[in-house]
Amino acid sequence: LILFKNVFKEFDGVEVLTNINLYIRKNEFLTLLGPSGCGKTTMLRLLAGFEAPTSGDILFEGKSIVNTPPYKRKLNTVFQRYALFPHMDVFGNIAFGLKIQKKDKNTIQKKVKDMLKLVGLSGYENRSIDKLSGGQMQRVAIARALVNEPEVLLLDEPLGALDLKFRKDMQLELKRMQKQLGITFVYVTHDQEEALTMSDTIAVIDNGMIQQIGTPVDIYNEPINSFVADFIGESN
Ligand code: ATP
Repeated sequence: LILFKNVFKEFDGVEVLTNINLYIRKNEFLTLLGPSGCGKTTMLRLLAGFEAPTSGDILFEGKSIVNTPPYKRKLNTVFQRYALFPHMDVFGNIAFGLKIQKKDKNTIQKKVKDMLKLVGLSGYENRSIDKLSGGQMQRVAIARALVNEPEVLLLDEPLGALDLKFRKDMQLELKRMQKQLGITFVYVTHDQEEALTMSDTIAVIDNGMIQQIGTPVDIYNEPINSFVADFIGESN
């Protein structure tokens, strides 16, 4: 579905991504895993279209998207901080994108209802955002990102602000939603346990370079070098 081809990215002459080659299959849960500052978020920003590669190409269904503006890409993003509209209720937040697209009222009602069911918040339509827990806010953010039916969802440390118990629950829920909807997730985390639990494929990144790409079992059992072995072996 998505191909990074010899992608390099520099900021002010400093190289932060070096020769990234990565294929992301349709409907897979792919995780970019690596320590802080290794370039994971930059890869997501390139995919979303907020940045352009210094050289190399990014293909979507075989066609270059580096000149496609963000809003024309068939993807949506969920960030660590929820970035919800605090003055709108749950319904308003999720319906926002649909209203912009001028969908009719009944369609909007139905889609919001379906999304709330999917994220486990049925009946929360009229709740104000500041009366939700962190985990519930993150669910609303996910519902908002999914309601436009993107082909790909980009998630940048979406559970980073949640406490451990919520994180465990949400890990399982996210995985369930991804399989239920049958869409591609590109997920960024520095938490190796999270990556091993949730992913179909993991790309381990260090210092702007992909160290290893494989299934959780491959990466866990056969780390390709000492960086991967040490990083996977660490506990947070
Ligand atoms: P974290 O988990 O801490 O967010 P990350 O792996 O997502 O880290 P990036 O945010 O992609 O890492 O950053 C990679 C490198 O690029 C860092 O050294 C960062 O300082 C640098 N960088 C990112 N964005 C910019 C920018 N707009 N201008 C200059 N340098 C940047």
